[in-house]
Amino acid sequence: MDTAACAPDRAPVPSAEEIAPVFDTLVVVGPGLIGSSVLRRAKEYGTLARRVIAVDISPEVCARVAELGIADEVTTDAAQAAVVADCVMLCVPVGAMGPVAASVLPAMRPGAILTEVGSTKVSVIEAITPYLRPDVPYVPAHPMAGTEFSGPDAGFATLFEDRWCLLTPLESTPADAVKAVRTLWERCGARLREMAPAHHDRVCAMVSHLPHLLAFTICGTADDLADETRSEVLDFAASGFRDFTRIAASDPIMWRDIFLLNRDALLEMLARFMEDAQAMARAIRWGDEDYIVDRIERGRKIRKSLIENRQA
Ligand code: NAP
Repeated sequence: MDTAACAPDRAPVPSAEEIAPVFDTLVVVGPGLIGSSVLRRAKEYGTLARRVIAVDISPEVCARVAELGIADEVTTDAAQAAVVADCVMLCVPVGAMGPVAASVLPAMRPGAILTEVGSTKVSVIEAITPYLRPDVPYVPAHPMAGTEFSGPDAGFATLFEDRWCLLTPLESTPADAVKAVRTLWERCGARLREMAPAHHDRVCAMVSHLPHLLAFTICGTADDLADETRSEVLDFAASGFRDFTRIAASDPIMWRDIFLLNRDALLEMLARFMEDAQAMARAIRWGDEDYIVDRIERGRKIRKSLIENRQA
């Protein structure tokens, strides 16, 4: 069920003086772009948690997080950190969510909340469900914010401001756990919506996964051209191609996982796109000016509404 129309989507961001932190101890597993942005927000604003602990499998990443000073504690031992958490937030690649949930859930205190930020929801929920405990509420979330960069140096405290965060709670998720995670993201400056996981995956296949697929493909096509043409592509790249290259610079493991784990919705959107691209090709071949202008005008309208919605 899409409960989009039920609640206001944006609450004012309170300061630490105005309001108590949502959690006492927040554990962030995977302090990359998303995880380190949450950590920075927590440290800089003081309204998410009194204490933040960062967990990464790599000692080098842990050392870097400690050096950046964006967590109160840093460890490679996820289970040990989970023992003291009121909330554990998984910010690892979607393909790692199941195994990481399996390692933290047995250690968590009754009543502590498990949440995650995976870009696909049906597959992540399926991967985590076998390890769930009835006394640990699970709140799936997806902050729709990002850049093409990854790792702990890439994050920043304002990443989520005015961006959507989609929550896809399960029927069994208690309302107070959803409210706590909702409040955490509101305090990151995000706008909130709740929707069903399968609906989320179809929406994201269209607005995020397909554009990345097109960007990787168009850069591959340019790269496959004869040597001389390719160097000219790079020399004269106009803004259209440049914009694709920015998206195509995204992390390969993250996007491999997203494509494979949202396979059905992505292939459906790709098939629709290819039909529409064929129709455009036919219009160009036969000089159908009206069709071409109509499509371009629809694109311009979408851009205008994005700007009006502060999402551009
Ligand atoms: P990222 O910058 O690559 O960070 C991922 C982090 O997870 C890294 O610190 C990585 O450590 C760590 N990690 C990987 N496997 C782990 C494991 N088994 N145990 C503990 N830590 C592990 O990626 P990101 O962009 O922040 O993405 C993280 C999650 O957010 C993904 O699920 C993604 O789908 C979701 N998301 C991303 C965006 C976006 O635009 N980037 C937007 C919304 C949601 P190492 O570096 O040591 O491997």
